[in-house]
Order: sequence, then C-alpha cells, then structure tokens
Amino acid sequence: LVSRDNHPERSTVRVGGVPIGPGTVTLIAGPCAVETPEQTLQAARMAAAAGATLLRGGAYKPRTSPYAFQGLGEAGLRILADVRERTGLPVVTEVVDAGDVALVASYADMLQVGTRNAQNFALLQAVGAAGKPVMLKRGMNATIEEWLMAAEYIAQRGNLDVVLCERGIRTFETATRNTLDVSAVPLAQRLSHLPVIVDPSHSGGHRDLVLPLTRAAIAAGADGVIIDVHPRPDQALCDGPQALVDGDLDELARVMERFPPLL
Ligand code: PEP
Repeated sequence: LVSRDNHPERSTVRVGGVPIGPGTVTLIAGPCAVETPEQTLQAARMAAAAGATLLRGGAYKPRTSPYAFQGLGEAGLRILADVRERTGLPVVTEVVDAGDVALVASYADMLQVGTRNAQNFALLQAVGAAGKPVMLKRGMNATIEEWLMAAEYIAQRGNLDVVLCERGIRTFETATRNTLDVSAVPLAQRLSHLPVIVDPSHSGGHRDLVLPLTRAAIAAGADGVIIDVHPRPDQALCDGPQALVDGDLDELARVMERFPPLL
C-alpha cells in the first residue's frame, strides 16, 4: 500500500489543511514537551515566527529513564488544543500506548509514533484506525525496509495519510545523539509514495547541529522538517540542549522563506 510501485505519484498528506508533500518544505516546530500553558504558547509563537505551519509538542514523553519527566498526559493535550485555538497552528503530538489513541486523536490533528514505538504493531494498527494523519518516526535501529513495513501496518488499517520521519539511527558515533541518515530521504521517496520529513533536533541532539542538518535535509529533498524550540531551554524538562532559542530563529526563518507553504 505504501510502495511506489503501485502508486507512482508522490502523495501529499494534509494536516488540519496544511499540506506535507512534494512542492514545498513544511516546518513543524514547537517544544519537545508541553510543560506549561505559557511555555507552550511562547514556543508556538516562536515557531510561527520562523515559518512553522504546524505545532509539535509532546504530552506523553517516552523517556529512557523512568525517573525523567514523562509528560503531562491529558492536561498537556488540553494545553495544545488551547494553543491551537490562539495561534491557528494544527497540532502534532505523540501517542505511546494503543489504549490512549482515541483520547489523543480527540485533541490532535496528527498522531506521532516515536522511534521507540516504531515497531509496536498494536500501536501502529490502532493509529491506522484512528482517522487522523500519522507521522511515523523511523526506529533508531530500523532498516528502511522495516520502517516502510511499519508504515504498511498503518496503511493496512485504511489510513494512507502517513508521513515518514527520518530521525537518526544508532551508529558507533557518540558525538551526536544519533546519526542522521540523509540518504534515507531519497531512498524512502524512491521506494514509497509517502512524504518524507526529517527531525534534525532528535537526530543530532545539539542546538548547533539543527540548522546545518535542516539544510542537509532540504538539499536531500525532504518534504518537511520537525524542530524543537523552547523559550528557556536551560529550564526545559526535556531535551533542552537541542532546542532552538530566539536568537537561532531568524536564520531558520531565512531558510524557510524559500519554501512558501502551498495552502
Ligand atoms: C519527539 O519527537 O518528541 C521524540 C521523542 O522523538 P523520537 O521518537 O524521534 O526520539
């Protein structure tokens, strides 16, 4: 279903009216985690000023340590819905448990499946049946074939509104959090008709790498990028070191100006 063999035209997925697909580069930006209403609204305004047309933000955070901040849950979803109301930005947010899919889908415009759940087949089937577009991160240990098969689980439940997101893979390198596999962009686009975006924040794990990796993603043909921004990253409860701050956003805006949204 996701293969390009039977569907030679590349697809566009619409999220709350915003297209992700060939012809433009969609910027999705916002906080890694929803922490407070003020922090989320400020991050959303920073994102919009840089050219974002979709808001990201995690209410359910799959953390390596069980002692790390796990997200606000439904209270976070309510904050996201309120910020959507104030800014007009449709919301992309992660769901980590098949049992929460209906709840998250009742607030979100797009459901995100994260790298750690990229082969959680029960979750993939549940988001496939939820009636909302899905962003499927590549598993950090997944081959491109495994990533596309994960997308097939979603499509098999009747949902072809799937966007693939390359977010870095595990390699021997420790200078970055994960290694961004830029070649995955043209490869996945050649094999699948689904749009392919890149997460330069979670792959590199460092603020200084986000803009260079964004440029690399766009040069490789990515249909969008998803980027963490935070008004005060030194106080962030999740992944502060990779979040862009006000001072970085002018340059991001200059990169994005070349790709006006196709509304
Ligand atoms: C995220 O985007 O919030 C996230 C946790 O990303 P990943 O699943 O790629 O680590």
